[in-house]
Amino acid sequence: MTAKFGHHYIGGTWIGDSPNGMMPIENPSDGTVFAEAPQGSANLAIQAVKSAREAFESSEWSSNPRLRAAALLQFADVLEGRANEIATLMAKENGKVIEQARHEVAAGYGEARYYAGVARNVFGRTFESGTGKMSFMIREPAGVVSVIVPWNAPVTLLIRSVAPALAAGCSVVIKPAPQTPMTNAAVMDCFDAVKSIPKGVVNSVNDYATEVGTILSTHSEIDVISFTGSSKTGKIIMANAADTIKHVSLELGGKAPAIVFGNADLNNAVAEIKRGSLSLNGQMCTCISRVLVQDAVYDEMKERLRNAYENTKIGDARSIGVELGPIIDQANQERLMGIIDRANQEANMVIRGTTSGNDLSKGYFISPTMFEIEDVSHDLVQDELFGPVVSLERFSDEADAIEKSNATRYGLAASVYTQDLNVSMRLGRKLKFGTVWLNCHNRLLAEVETGGYRESGIGRLHGIEAMNDFLETKHIYCEVEV
Ligand code: ADP
Repeated sequence: MTAKFGHHYIGGTWIGDSPNGMMPIENPSDGTVFAEAPQGSANLAIQAVKSAREAFESSEWSSNPRLRAAALLQFADVLEGRANEIATLMAKENGKVIEQARHEVAAGYGEARYYAGVARNVFGRTFESGTGKMSFMIREPAGVVSVIVPWNAPVTLLIRSVAPALAAGCSVVIKPAPQTPMTNAAVMDCFDAVKSIPKGVVNSVNDYATEVGTILSTHSEIDVISFTGSSKTGKIIMANAADTIKHVSLELGGKAPAIVFGNADLNNAVAEIKRGSLSLNGQMCTCISRVLVQDAVYDEMKERLRNAYENTKIGDARSIGVELGPIIDQANQERLMGIIDRANQEANMVIRGTTSGNDLSKGYFISPTMFEIEDVSHDLVQDELFGPVVSLERFSDEADAIEKSNATRYGLAASVYTQDLNVSMRLGRKLKFGTVWLNCHNRLLAEVETGGYRESGIGRLHGIEAMNDFLETKHIYCEVEV
């Protein structure tokens, strides 16, 4: 690990300035502080925006798609070459279990390769509206993009915004989450290794609070904001962006239901629900947080899930075979334990999460929790809890399943378990969620769009549509003598 790790990256230079003090970086698996990173400031953010603007206006980057495609491919190769090291660092920094961390890094370089191809396929249109009246519809890069990233997937949630922005020809200013500047800096180091990317095209500034994020959502030289995080912060960013009418792409919170019909393959449903609810230790916006089960198999599913959750391997995120690592920090562990205490009083506890046992007391662990609840309007069902905590709810028929599943303000992802293709396709259409998986959960691909209905967001990431956020459409018109 070199000194530049954890530093800001501005105009192709590592900057260790820390006008607001250093940020301690903690390993949530054992509570130790293993590094510290410099905090940013408004001035550093402004410097980064300036550097991104200069690179956008004066380098070849914004006008040369082949340069961009080659650079993204090279970046993907460098990241792949460092995959193990970066996955291990991530597991240490945010507690994501190592197999998932490796999968995340692989998804990151896969995404960069996908957008390298897309970069060479951004076409406009031409037409003649009347004799000699020529219209050229050109797709141009939108300009400077701020990318504000959460801690739970600091590689893929970064690259899925940065890769289409770069493919489109934009420059970026990144703000990593305060919990994961080290993993972010390792990815910046992979960009730094690609010498064909002009200096200033990729910049990154840390922050522990909101000073940098506020500049990145209000500065007049920022054209687009690509934000992944909570709905609460998304609303603040959207309001801050209003004054300068920026494009906003927001992927926000979720409250994903898994809907299990009586004729489902229950072995498969239990396996998918366990994995889908414990991904990123339950701290993923598409995680299953509600399990809705049809009357006929309700009691059986309750027992099977209790058994599955009771047999969860919990431990240090870097140990092979661990299914559930720690919560990101002590504050969130305490917040979740408060929720679990409340659920214990206001709902019927099936399996109650605890912070002790298994010699895990040093880290911020919570074992899986499942509670039964009937009242869909209760905030335990309505609010995103963000931890290894699920509600178990009962439904009678298809209409009841649809009504209950759609009853929250979120609409990011859902999954349906049934062997009846007609039922699954009908639900696929009636559920108000950006993604509906059938008989599985959390299958995310570079090629296909994700995003939210309602308070889960605006715009789509991944796939060809992600480019829309980073491109402007221009009409050039002329009348020629014929
Ligand atoms: P979480 O609570 O899970 O950390 P947030 O939505 O608060 O989720 O954070 C996601 C990202 O948004 C982080 O990088 C965080 O630092 C950043 N952020 C938080 N508040 C603001 C804000 N007011 N303006 C811009 N960015 C912010």
